[in-house]
Amino acid sequence: MPFDEPMYFIEERTPLMFQIEEFEWETFFEKCSEYRLSNQFNENDFLIVLTELKNKANWFSSFSMKGERTIFIHASDWENYIYAEPEYPVAYEVVANILQSLLYKKVGGDFFKYVHNTPIGCLNDMCGWKPDITFRLRTGDICSDCLSVLTVNIQKDIIEQSISIFESLRKRMLFNKAWQEPMSFEEKLPFTIAITKRKLGTTSEPFRKMLMLIDHFDSIVRTTVLMLARLTLTNEQMEDFLIEKRLYPLPSLGNWVDALAAIAKLNAHIFPELQLPEDFSKKVRQVVQIANDNRITFIRNQKRGHGYVDCQDNSYRDLFTKCIVVVENIEKLLSPLFYRFNYYHTISLRRLERKRFKVIAHLLSGSNPAFIEKEITTEFENIEDLPIEDRLYVVTPDLKKWVDLDPYLKYGECNICHHNRLLVYDGTYMLDPYIGHRFKIDRD
Ligand SMILES: [Zn+2]
Ligand SMILES: [Zn+2]
Repeated sequence: MPFDEPMYFIEERTPLMFQIEEFEWETFFEKCSEYRLSNQFNENDFLIVLTELKNKANWFSSFSMKGERTIFIHASDWENYIYAEPEYPVAYEVVANILQSLLYKKVGGDFFKYVHNTPIGCLNDMCGWKPDITFRLRTGDICSDCLSVLTVNIQKDIIEQSISIFESLRKRMLFNKAWQEPMSFEEKLPFTIAITKRKLGTTSEPFRKMLMLIDHFDSIVRTTVLMLARLTLTNEQMEDFLIEKRLYPLPSLGNWVDALAAIAKLNAHIFPELQLPEDFSKKVRQVVQIANDNRITFIRNQKRGHGYVDCQDNSYRDLFTKCIVVVENIEKLLSPLFYRFNYYHTISLRRLERKRFKVIAHLLSGSNPAFIEKEITTEFENIEDLPIEDRLYVVTPDLKKWVDLDPYLKYGECNICHHNRLLVYDGTYMLDPYIGHRFKIDRD
Protein backbone atom coordinates (compact mmCIF):
# COMPACT_ATOMS: atom_id res chain seq x y z
CA MET A 1 0.00 0.00 0.00
CA PRO A 2 1.58 3.29 -0.97
CA PHE A 3 1.74 5.49 2.11
CA ASP A 4 3.67 8.62 1.41
CA GLU A 5 3.82 12.10 2.82
CA PRO A 6 3.65 13.41 5.37
CA MET A 7 3.75 10.08 7.26
CA TYR A 8 5.86 7.30 5.85
CA PHE A 9 6.53 3.87 7.27
CA ILE A 10 9.86 2.07 7.56
CA GLU A 11 10.37 -1.50 8.70
CA GLU A 12 12.94 -1.80 11.50
CA ARG A 13 15.55 -4.51 11.00
CA THR A 14 16.56 -5.03 14.62
CA PRO A 15 14.03 -7.12 16.54
CA LEU A 16 12.77 -5.90 19.88
CA MET A 17 13.34 -8.75 22.34
CA PHE A 18 10.37 -9.09 24.66
CA GLN A 19 8.52 -12.25 25.59
CA ILE A 20 6.08 -11.68 28.42
CA GLU A 21 2.56 -13.01 27.76
CA GLU A 22 -0.15 -10.74 29.16
CA PHE A 23 2.38 -8.00 29.68
CA GLU A 24 1.88 -4.86 31.74
CA TRP A 25 1.92 -1.82 29.45
CA GLU A 26 4.46 -0.08 31.65
CA THR A 27 6.96 -2.93 31.43
CA PHE A 28 6.54 -3.04 27.70
CA PHE A 29 6.89 0.70 27.15
CA GLU A 30 10.05 0.74 29.30
CA LYS A 31 11.53 -1.91 27.01
CA CYS A 32 10.58 0.28 24.07
CA SER A 33 12.35 3.28 25.60
CA GLU A 34 15.54 1.22 25.84
CA TYR A 35 15.08 0.14 22.26
CA ARG A 36 14.63 3.73 21.10
CA LEU A 37 17.78 4.71 22.88
CA SER A 38 19.99 1.90 21.63
CA ASN A 39 18.71 2.27 18.08
CA GLN A 40 19.08 6.04 18.06
CA PHE A 41 15.49 6.92 17.38
CA ASN A 42 14.66 10.49 16.57
CA GLU A 43 12.16 11.68 19.17
CA ASN A 44 9.82 12.84 16.39
CA ASP A 45 9.60 9.34 14.95
CA PHE A 46 7.03 6.85 16.07
CA LEU A 47 8.10 3.38 17.16
CA ILE A 48 5.20 1.07 16.38
CA VAL A 49 5.53 -2.49 17.66
CA LEU A 50 3.36 -5.27 16.25
CA THR A 51 3.27 -8.17 18.67
CA GLU A 52 1.58 -11.54 19.00
CA LEU A 53 1.78 -11.25 22.78
CA LYS A 54 -1.39 -10.43 24.64
CA ASN A 55 -1.37 -7.49 27.03
CA LYS A 56 -2.80 -7.58 30.51
CA ALA A 57 -5.67 -5.18 29.84
CA ASN A 58 -6.45 -7.22 26.70
CA TRP A 59 -6.59 -4.17 24.41
CA PHE A 60 -6.03 -4.21 20.68
CA SER A 61 -3.48 -1.45 20.92
CA SER A 62 -2.30 1.57 22.87
CA PHE A 63 0.05 4.51 22.62
CA SER A 64 2.38 5.52 25.43
CA MET A 65 0.86 8.19 27.64
CA LYS A 66 4.23 9.33 28.88
CA GLY A 67 4.90 11.50 25.89
CA GLU A 68 7.11 9.12 24.02
CA ARG A 69 6.00 8.35 20.49
CA THR A 70 5.60 4.63 21.02
CA ILE A 71 2.68 2.39 20.14
CA PHE A 72 1.97 -1.32 20.45
CA ILE A 73 -0.55 -3.25 18.39
CA HIS A 74 -1.70 -6.77 19.18
CA ALA A 75 -1.31 -8.28 15.75
CA SER A 76 -2.93 -11.72 16.05
CA ASP A 77 -6.39 -13.26 16.53
CA TRP A 78 -8.21 -10.37 14.87
CA GLU A 79 -10.29 -12.67 12.71
CA ASN A 80 -12.49 -13.65 15.65
CA TYR A 81 -13.55 -10.01 16.08
CA ILE A 82 -13.69 -8.76 12.54
CA TYR A 83 -14.01 -10.95 9.48
CA ALA A 84 -11.24 -9.44 7.35
CA GLU A 85 -7.60 -10.08 6.57
CA PRO A 86 -5.84 -9.10 9.82
CA GLU A 87 -3.43 -6.71 8.09
CA TYR A 88 -6.27 -4.22 7.50
CA PRO A 89 -7.37 -3.77 11.11
CA VAL A 90 -3.71 -3.74 12.14
CA ALA A 91 -2.91 -0.98 9.62
CA TYR A 92 -5.98 0.92 10.85
CA GLU A 93 -4.78 0.69 14.45
CA VAL A 94 -1.36 2.01 13.46
CA VAL A 95 -2.79 5.18 11.95
CA ALA A 96 -5.52 5.60 14.60
CA ASN A 97 -2.93 5.41 17.38
CA ILE A 98 -0.70 7.97 15.71
CA LEU A 99 -3.58 10.44 15.56
CA GLN A 100 -4.62 9.67 19.13
CA SER A 101 -1.08 9.96 20.43
CA LEU A 102 -0.61 13.33 18.70
CA LEU A 103 -3.91 14.56 20.07
CA TYR A 104 -3.19 13.33 23.59
CA LYS A 105 0.10 15.16 23.56
CA LYS A 106 -1.74 18.41 22.77
CA VAL A 107 -4.86 18.17 24.94
CA GLY A 108 -3.75 15.86 27.79
CA GLY A 109 -6.54 14.56 30.01
CA ASP A 110 -9.17 16.31 27.86
CA PHE A 111 -8.45 13.57 25.35
CA PHE A 112 -10.85 11.27 27.20
CA LYS A 113 -13.75 13.65 26.52
CA TYR A 114 -13.46 12.55 22.91
CA VAL A 115 -13.51 8.82 23.57
CA HIS A 116 -16.89 7.24 22.81
CA ASN A 117 -17.86 4.60 25.35
CA THR A 118 -20.77 3.57 23.17
CA PRO A 119 -19.51 2.86 19.65
CA ILE A 120 -20.72 5.25 16.95
CA GLY A 121 -18.38 4.14 14.18
CA CYS A 122 -15.70 6.75 14.90
CA LEU A 123 -11.93 6.63 15.20
CA ASN A 124 -12.27 7.28 18.95
CA ASP A 125 -14.70 4.45 19.76
CA MET A 126 -13.63 2.83 22.98
CA CYS A 127 -14.50 -0.77 22.02
CA GLY A 128 -14.62 -2.10 25.57
CA TRP A 129 -16.52 -4.95 23.91
CA LYS A 130 -13.86 -5.88 21.39
CA PRO A 131 -16.20 -7.06 18.61
CA ASP A 132 -17.47 -3.45 18.33
CA ILE A 133 -14.22 -2.70 16.51
CA THR A 134 -16.07 -3.79 13.41
CA PHE A 135 -18.13 -0.50 13.32
CA ARG A 136 -15.04 1.63 13.54
CA LEU A 137 -13.26 -0.20 10.77
CA ARG A 138 -16.15 -0.69 8.42
CA THR A 139 -17.16 2.97 8.49
CA GLY A 140 -13.56 4.23 8.43
CA ASP A 141 -15.07 7.46 9.74
CA ILE A 142 -14.25 10.25 12.18
CA CYS A 143 -17.29 11.95 13.80
CA SER A 144 -17.63 15.73 13.53
CA ASP A 145 -16.70 16.42 17.19
CA CYS A 146 -13.52 14.39 16.91
CA LEU A 147 -12.70 15.82 13.50
CA SER A 148 -12.92 19.39 14.84
CA VAL A 149 -10.64 18.71 17.80
CA LEU A 150 -8.17 16.91 15.53
CA THR A 151 -8.22 19.80 13.05
CA VAL A 152 -7.36 22.33 15.74
CA ASN A 153 -4.49 20.27 17.16
CA ILE A 154 -2.92 18.29 14.35
CA GLN A 155 -1.32 19.25 11.04
CA LYS A 156 -3.91 19.22 8.26
CA ASP A 157 -1.96 17.01 5.86
CA ILE A 158 -1.55 14.28 8.51
CA ILE A 159 -5.31 14.20 9.03
CA GLU A 160 -5.92 14.13 5.29
CA GLN A 161 -3.48 11.29 4.77
CA SER A 162 -5.04 9.35 7.67
CA ILE A 163 -8.53 9.74 6.27
CA SER A 164 -7.40 8.54 2.87
CA ILE A 165 -5.71 5.50 4.47
CA PHE A 166 -8.90 4.71 6.44
CA GLU A 167 -10.91 4.98 3.26
CA SER A 168 -8.64 2.66 1.33
CA LEU A 169 -8.70 0.11 4.17
CA ARG A 170 -12.47 0.32 4.42
CA LYS A 171 -12.83 -0.52 0.73
CA ARG A 172 -10.52 -3.47 1.04
CA MET A 173 -12.44 -4.89 3.99
CA LEU A 174 -15.82 -5.06 2.29
CA PHE A 175 -17.55 -8.39 2.73
CA ASN A 176 -17.81 -9.12 -0.97
CA LYS A 177 -14.03 -9.45 -1.19
CA ALA A 178 -14.31 -12.49 1.03
CA TRP A 179 -16.65 -14.05 -1.46
CA GLN A 180 -14.10 -13.82 -4.26
CA GLU A 181 -11.10 -15.11 -2.40
CA PRO A 182 -10.84 -17.12 0.81
CA MET A 183 -9.36 -15.34 3.83
CA SER A 184 -5.80 -16.38 4.62
CA PHE A 185 -6.70 -17.54 8.13
CA GLU A 186 -9.32 -19.98 6.90
CA GLU A 187 -8.35 -21.04 3.41
CA LYS A 188 -6.71 -24.25 4.65
CA LEU A 189 -9.23 -25.06 7.37
CA PRO A 190 -11.70 -27.84 6.63
CA PHE A 191 -15.08 -26.33 5.77
CA THR A 192 -16.77 -27.58 8.96
CA ILE A 193 -14.39 -25.47 11.04
CA ALA A 194 -13.92 -22.58 8.61
CA ILE A 195 -17.67 -21.96 8.56
CA THR A 196 -18.07 -21.77 12.33
CA LYS A 197 -15.04 -19.50 12.50
CA ARG A 198 -16.58 -17.23 9.91
CA LYS A 199 -19.91 -17.07 11.76
CA LEU A 200 -18.02 -16.23 14.92
CA GLY A 201 -16.06 -13.46 13.18
CA THR A 202 -19.10 -11.86 11.58
CA THR A 203 -21.23 -11.67 14.74
CA SER A 204 -20.91 -8.93 17.34
CA GLU A 205 -24.02 -9.22 19.52
CA PRO A 206 -22.81 -10.83 22.78
CA PHE A 207 -25.31 -13.67 23.23
CA ARG A 208 -25.11 -14.73 19.62
CA LYS A 209 -21.35 -14.40 19.64
CA MET A 210 -21.13 -16.69 22.67
CA LEU A 211 -23.30 -19.30 20.96
CA MET A 212 -21.16 -19.09 17.83
CA LEU A 213 -18.05 -19.58 19.91
CA ILE A 214 -19.48 -22.73 21.46
CA ASP A 215 -20.50 -23.98 18.01
CA HIS A 216 -16.98 -23.31 16.79
CA PHE A 217 -15.48 -25.23 19.68
CA ASP A 218 -17.93 -28.09 19.10
CA SER A 219 -17.03 -28.17 15.44
CA ILE A 220 -13.28 -28.18 16.14
CA VAL A 221 -13.57 -31.12 18.54
CA ARG A 222 -16.00 -33.13 16.44
CA THR A 223 -14.04 -32.67 13.20
CA THR A 224 -10.78 -33.53 14.96
CA VAL A 225 -12.15 -36.73 16.50
CA LEU A 226 -13.64 -37.93 13.23
CA MET A 227 -10.47 -37.11 11.28
CA LEU A 228 -8.07 -38.66 13.77
CA ALA A 229 -10.22 -41.74 14.24
CA ARG A 230 -10.49 -42.26 10.52
CA LEU A 231 -6.77 -41.70 10.02
CA THR A 232 -5.80 -44.22 12.66
CA LEU A 233 -8.52 -46.88 12.88
CA THR A 234 -9.96 -49.48 10.52
CA ASN A 235 -13.67 -49.39 9.62
CA GLU A 236 -14.62 -51.94 12.28
CA GLN A 237 -12.43 -50.34 14.93
CA MET A 238 -13.99 -46.98 14.15
CA GLU A 239 -17.54 -48.34 14.61
CA ASP A 240 -16.50 -49.91 17.92
CA PHE A 241 -14.76 -46.74 19.02
CA LEU A 242 -17.82 -44.58 18.36
CA ILE A 243 -20.08 -46.94 20.28
CA GLU A 244 -17.61 -47.35 23.14
CA LYS A 245 -17.19 -43.58 23.47
CA ARG A 246 -20.94 -43.13 23.22
CA LEU A 247 -20.64 -41.04 20.08
CA TYR A 248 -23.62 -42.87 18.67
CA PRO A 249 -26.42 -42.07 18.91
CA LEU A 250 -26.77 -38.41 19.98
CA PRO A 251 -23.47 -37.74 21.64
CA SER A 252 -22.92 -34.85 24.01
CA LEU A 253 -20.04 -32.45 23.55
CA GLY A 254 -18.45 -33.93 26.70
CA ASN A 255 -18.33 -37.32 25.01
CA TRP A 256 -16.58 -35.84 22.01
CA VAL A 257 -13.99 -34.22 24.26
CA ASP A 258 -13.40 -37.54 26.10
CA ALA A 259 -13.07 -39.30 22.76
CA LEU A 260 -10.44 -36.78 21.74
CA ALA A 261 -8.38 -37.61 24.84
CA ALA A 262 -8.68 -41.35 24.17
CA ILE A 263 -7.65 -41.06 20.58
CA ALA A 264 -4.59 -38.95 21.35
CA LYS A 265 -3.40 -41.48 23.91
CA LEU A 266 -4.10 -44.46 21.71
CA ASN A 267 -2.30 -43.13 18.67
CA ALA A 268 0.72 -41.19 19.84
CA HIS A 269 3.04 -43.55 17.93
CA ILE A 270 1.08 -43.28 14.66
CA PHE A 271 1.04 -39.49 14.39
CA PRO A 272 4.55 -39.03 12.95
CA GLU A 273 3.66 -41.56 10.24
CA LEU A 274 0.73 -39.36 9.34
CA GLN A 275 3.14 -36.45 8.85
CA LEU A 276 1.96 -34.85 12.08
CA PRO A 277 4.51 -33.37 14.51
CA GLU A 278 6.15 -35.62 17.11
CA ASP A 279 4.47 -33.84 20.01
CA PHE A 280 1.03 -33.82 18.43
CA SER A 281 -0.44 -36.37 20.85
CA LYS A 282 0.73 -34.19 23.74
CA LYS A 283 -0.88 -31.16 22.14
CA VAL A 284 -4.19 -32.93 21.71
CA ARG A 285 -4.18 -34.00 25.36
CA GLN A 286 -3.39 -30.42 26.29
CA VAL A 287 -6.49 -29.35 24.33
CA VAL A 288 -8.64 -31.72 26.39
CA GLN A 289 -7.07 -30.44 29.58
CA ILE A 290 -7.73 -26.81 28.65
CA ALA A 291 -11.31 -27.60 27.62
CA ASN A 292 -11.96 -29.37 30.92
CA ASP A 293 -10.21 -26.80 33.11
CA ASN A 294 -12.29 -24.07 31.58
CA ARG A 295 -15.46 -26.10 31.71
CA ILE A 296 -16.30 -25.39 28.10
CA THR A 297 -18.65 -28.34 27.80
CA PHE A 298 -20.37 -27.32 31.03
CA ILE A 299 -20.88 -23.82 29.64
CA ARG A 300 -22.26 -25.27 26.45
CA ASN A 301 -24.79 -27.41 28.32
CA GLN A 302 -25.80 -24.42 30.39
CA LYS A 303 -26.06 -21.87 27.62
CA ARG A 304 -27.11 -23.85 24.64
CA GLY A 305 -28.20 -27.32 25.65
CA HIS A 306 -31.05 -26.40 27.93
CA GLY A 307 -32.33 -23.26 26.28
CA TYR A 308 -31.49 -21.18 29.34
CA VAL A 309 -31.27 -17.60 28.18
CA ASP A 310 -29.85 -14.96 30.42
CA CYS A 311 -30.80 -11.52 29.16
CA GLN A 312 -27.80 -9.72 30.59
CA ASP A 313 -25.54 -8.78 27.71
CA ASN A 314 -22.74 -8.11 30.15
CA SER A 315 -22.63 -11.66 31.45
CA TYR A 316 -22.19 -12.91 27.87
CA ARG A 317 -19.52 -10.34 27.19
CA ASP A 318 -17.51 -11.54 30.17
CA LEU A 319 -18.05 -15.16 29.34
CA PHE A 320 -17.08 -14.64 25.73
CA THR A 321 -13.97 -12.66 26.64
CA LYS A 322 -12.87 -15.48 28.92
CA CYS A 323 -13.71 -18.33 26.55
CA ILE A 324 -12.37 -16.85 23.32
CA VAL A 325 -8.83 -17.00 24.70
CA VAL A 326 -9.31 -20.66 25.54
CA VAL A 327 -10.67 -21.54 22.11
CA GLU A 328 -7.90 -19.58 20.37
CA ASN A 329 -5.35 -21.67 22.27
CA ILE A 330 -7.10 -24.89 21.39
CA GLU A 331 -7.25 -23.93 17.73
CA LYS A 332 -3.55 -23.17 17.71
CA LEU A 333 -2.63 -26.50 19.30
CA LEU A 334 -4.66 -28.44 16.75
CA SER A 335 -3.61 -26.36 13.77
CA PRO A 336 -0.99 -28.87 12.52
CA LEU A 337 -3.84 -31.27 11.85
CA PHE A 338 -6.07 -28.77 10.08
CA TYR A 339 -3.44 -26.96 8.06
CA ARG A 340 -1.37 -29.87 6.87
CA PHE A 341 -4.04 -32.04 5.36
CA ASN A 342 -6.14 -31.45 2.28
CA TYR A 343 -9.89 -31.99 2.13
CA TYR A 344 -11.44 -33.22 -1.09
CA HIS A 345 -14.67 -34.62 -2.42
CA THR A 346 -13.80 -36.85 -5.36
CA ILE A 347 -15.66 -36.27 -8.61
CA SER A 348 -13.70 -38.49 -10.98
CA LEU A 349 -10.44 -40.33 -11.34
CA ARG A 350 -8.37 -40.95 -14.45
CA ARG A 351 -5.17 -42.95 -14.96
CA LEU A 352 -2.54 -40.98 -16.86
CA GLU A 353 0.31 -43.49 -17.08
CA ARG A 354 1.81 -46.25 -14.93
CA LYS A 355 1.12 -45.17 -11.35
CA ARG A 356 0.11 -41.62 -12.17
CA PHE A 357 -3.49 -40.55 -11.78
CA LYS A 358 -5.48 -37.39 -12.15
CA VAL A 359 -8.19 -36.83 -9.57
CA ILE A 360 -10.88 -34.21 -10.14
CA ALA A 361 -12.27 -33.12 -6.80
CA HIS A 362 -14.11 -30.38 -4.95
CA LEU A 363 -11.81 -28.50 -2.65
CA LEU A 364 -13.49 -28.53 0.76
CA SER A 365 -11.40 -25.95 2.61
CA GLY A 366 -12.47 -22.42 3.49
CA SER A 367 -15.90 -21.09 4.42
CA ASN A 368 -17.36 -20.55 0.95
CA PRO A 369 -19.93 -23.33 0.33
CA ALA A 370 -19.57 -23.00 -3.45
CA PHE A 371 -16.67 -25.43 -3.51
CA ILE A 372 -14.36 -25.05 -6.48
CA GLU A 373 -13.13 -27.98 -8.56
CA LYS A 374 -9.50 -28.89 -8.53
CA GLU A 375 -7.32 -31.24 -10.56
CA ILE A 376 -4.82 -33.19 -8.54
CA THR A 377 -2.11 -35.28 -10.13
CA THR A 378 -0.51 -37.88 -7.92
CA GLU A 379 0.84 -41.43 -7.77
CA PHE A 380 -0.72 -44.43 -6.10
CA GLU A 381 1.26 -47.58 -5.29
CA ASN A 382 -1.57 -50.08 -4.92
CA ILE A 383 -5.02 -50.42 -6.34
CA GLU A 384 -6.59 -50.24 -2.88
CA ASP A 385 -4.96 -46.83 -2.34
CA LEU A 386 -7.05 -45.32 -5.12
CA PRO A 387 -9.81 -43.01 -3.95
CA ILE A 388 -13.42 -43.91 -4.74
CA GLU A 389 -15.56 -41.44 -6.68
CA ASP A 390 -18.10 -39.31 -4.83
CA ARG A 391 -16.51 -39.69 -1.42
CA LEU A 392 -15.05 -37.24 1.04
CA TYR A 393 -11.34 -37.61 1.76
CA VAL A 394 -8.74 -36.23 4.07
CA VAL A 395 -5.45 -36.36 2.17
CA THR A 396 -1.89 -36.30 3.51
CA PRO A 397 0.37 -33.39 2.48
CA ASP A 398 2.25 -35.55 -0.05
CA LEU A 399 -1.13 -36.43 -1.69
CA LYS A 400 -0.39 -40.18 -1.45
CA LYS A 401 -2.65 -41.30 1.37
CA TRP A 402 -6.36 -40.69 0.82
CA VAL A 403 -8.47 -41.50 3.84
CA ASP A 404 -12.17 -41.89 3.28
CA LEU A 405 -14.34 -40.01 5.80
CA ASP A 406 -17.55 -41.70 4.70
CA PRO A 407 -20.11 -41.94 6.30
CA TYR A 408 -19.07 -39.43 8.97
CA LEU A 409 -18.53 -36.53 6.64
CA LYS A 410 -20.31 -36.49 3.34
CA TYR A 411 -20.76 -34.19 0.39
CA GLY A 412 -24.35 -34.34 -0.71
CA GLU A 413 -27.79 -32.86 -0.73
CA CYS A 414 -29.18 -31.47 2.51
CA ASN A 415 -32.71 -32.89 2.97
CA ILE A 416 -33.94 -29.52 4.19
CA CYS A 417 -32.55 -26.86 1.83
CA HIS A 418 -31.81 -29.26 -1.05
CA HIS A 419 -28.43 -27.68 -1.72
CA ASN A 420 -25.27 -29.68 -2.06
CA ARG A 421 -23.42 -29.30 1.21
CA LEU A 422 -20.69 -30.76 3.29
CA LEU A 423 -22.66 -32.74 5.87
CA VAL A 424 -21.43 -33.84 9.28
CA TYR A 425 -22.45 -36.93 11.19
CA ASP A 426 -24.03 -36.48 14.60
CA GLY A 427 -24.99 -39.96 15.72
CA THR A 428 -28.40 -40.35 14.14
CA TYR A 429 -28.50 -36.96 12.43
CA MET A 430 -26.64 -35.27 9.67
CA LEU A 431 -25.86 -31.59 10.09
CA ASP A 432 -25.60 -28.99 7.35
CA PRO A 433 -23.16 -26.70 9.15
CA TYR A 434 -23.56 -23.84 6.67
CA ILE A 435 -27.16 -23.10 7.63
CA GLY A 436 -27.45 -25.24 10.74
CA HIS A 437 -29.95 -27.73 9.27
CA ARG A 438 -30.29 -31.09 10.93
CA PHE A 439 -32.00 -34.17 9.48
CA LYS A 440 -32.22 -37.88 10.10
CA ILE A 441 -30.40 -40.30 7.82
CA ASP A 442 -30.92 -43.95 7.14
CA ARG A 443 -27.63 -45.62 7.90
CA ASP A 444 -26.88 -48.65 5.80
ZN1 LIG B 1 -15.70 10.70 17.48
ZN1 LIG C 1 -29.44 -27.36 4.43
